[in-house]
Amino acid sequence: MALVVQKFGGSSVATADRIMNAARKAIRAQKAGNQVIVVVSARGDTTDELIELARQICEHPPAREMDMLLSTGEQISIALLAMAIQTVGEKAISFTGAQVGIVTDSSHTKARIKSISTERLREALDAGNIVIVAGFQGTDETGNITTLGRGGSDTTAVALAAVMKQAANEVSCDIYTDMDGIFTTDPRLVPEARKLDVVSYDEMLELASVGANVLSSRSIEFARKFGVPLQKRSSFSDVEGTWIVPEAEWMNEVVVCGAALVKDEARVAVVDVPDQPGVSFKIFSAIANKNIAVDMIVQNVGSQGKASIGFTVPAIELHATLKALEPVITELGARVTSEENVSKVSIVGTGMRTHTGVAQRMFAALAEAGINLTMITTGDIKISVLVDKADGVKALRAVHQAFQLDQPRPGAGAPIVPTSREHGRPEETRFQKRPALANQETRDEQDLLTQLASMEDIVVSAAVLDLDQGRITIVNLPDRAGNCSRIFQAVAAAGIVVDMIVGNPMEAGLAQNSFSVPIKDLPRALDVTQAVLQQIDPGASASADPDIARLIVSGIGMRTHTGVARSMFGALAERHINIAMINTSEIRVSVVVDRARGEEALEALKKAFKLP
Ligand code: ASP
Ligand code: MG
Repeated sequence: MALVVQKFGGSSVATADRIMNAARKAIRAQKAGNQVIVVVSARGDTTDELIELARQICEHPPAREMDMLLSTGEQISIALLAMAIQTVGEKAISFTGAQVGIVTDSSHTKARIKSISTERLREALDAGNIVIVAGFQGTDETGNITTLGRGGSDTTAVALAAVMKQAANEVSCDIYTDMDGIFTTDPRLVPEARKLDVVSYDEMLELASVGANVLSSRSIEFARKFGVPLQKRSSFSDVEGTWIVPEAEWMNEVVVCGAALVKDEARVAVVDVPDQPGVSFKIFSAIANKNIAVDMIVQNVGSQGKASIGFTVPAIELHATLKALEPVITELGARVTSEENVSKVSIVGTGMRTHTGVAQRMFAALAEAGINLTMITTGDIKISVLVDKADGVKALRAVHQAFQLDQPRPGAGAPIVPTSREHGRPEETRFQKRPALANQETRDEQDLLTQLASMEDIVVSAAVLDLDQGRITIVNLPDRAGNCSRIFQAVAAAGIVVDMIVGNPMEAGLAQNSFSVPIKDLPRALDVTQAVLQQIDPGASASADPDIARLIVSGIGMRTHTGVARSMFGALAERHINIAMINTSEIRVSVVVDRARGEEALEALKKAFKLP
């Protein structure tokens, strides 16, 4: 029998009416022949209200008690929903996280799931119940109640689907919210945003990590890791939502599938650090130890033995980050500067893997809107730039327009296979077939069980050495709108494919930018860049370095798992390999090192991540 996990967010259970509505959806799914597990969030703004209440009592509420408090929100929802289902004469039973054996680590307020026992769930389902489980919570090994971090109910839902996959033939997970699905960008900021019919797990991971307020990254990680088909849909209508599926060939045609804005970012620059092996490791492990996820890491090319490392953290984590850095800074004899009023604008799309000139198009759109970029990083399917907070929404709109995200196209509003909605059921469209995730490799039972033993562990799947790139470094570039665009436009016009770009402000209104190009194009890229710099400002200069090696580590949860950068930098530090450029995304981290150390670095990374 197929199993459906339905998850209802806070707004979908905010009132008695809405709870009845959720009850009907659950009953309908059961009547259609499925076993049904329902995961619910706290009603409406309950969680926010509880946090506020706690703050009125103490400024920094103890984390353990905070979890005790916050977990009550979900407990209210499960009881009410169970009553709702029973009132209409169907069987239902509610459980807290502890009651269904969701065991987590002990990081209160941001715990990670370690295991889930399926016994009680199975029993209740086999007795014909609709089983209702409180989202967002579990207990640690000593029985303390823990919560999974804001938005954690999605994670609970997908994790339950993942563990139940062993027993049920078919499992899928429907995430019900007050939105019809996932949009090309936040429609509240950009009204012309379109609903997507389908995105890949990777695109969704990158979108979530760059601020699209869609599904928590961790829930998508789970879904991808365990091959759980996900649909995000509205609880207020029956229209089909957005399917999140494995990558397919046709997705390469779509250069950009979505754009997102993180309004409240903070930029931290650690300047005058010794340009030596082990420095990144020290800095990022200090932050990782506090469980803070660092984003957009960029490292300036060192000169005179000194380098500078810039990165962003969520604005609310700035204080904790600076604190964590204090001892390291003293030890390194470095300085820290930080800036709070910055926002991050990102674009994401599988098609970036095969299309060139994407960064250039983004920079041009921003330049045209008169917006300055203070930091840049590019991943294989993502490009992020940092802008002044005041320019955030304008930048998002400009980018959305530049990639015509408001137009119908494959994956968004233009079905690529004919769907006969009048005749067939929506389930018959290409993306709707629940078991259609055929190219998801089928794992044997033992394999799955091993994975489940540490559900939220990092999965690093590959480490690759790329010796085909050379690097151009620009220094003293005036930090002004349009400058990046001019450079990359010229490089693109010369037919040169730019791969990795990092841009980092230096001091006194000047920026440093590095980018990699195929080594055969390096001399030409240098000529073109120098010619443009002449026009921009004779004080700026460019140099070319053919002696680089790039190492790419890919997997899932690379950014949300604060320890990835730590392990990666640690492995290189241990061998005294200096890191010259860093680039991070949710699914990939790349570093540039000396070409002569490339092989050795690869070996170190393979060992660190236990790769064959
Ligand atoms: N109630 C929790 C929150 O608001 C968990 C969730 O909604 O997923 O963050
Ligand atoms: Mg909530």
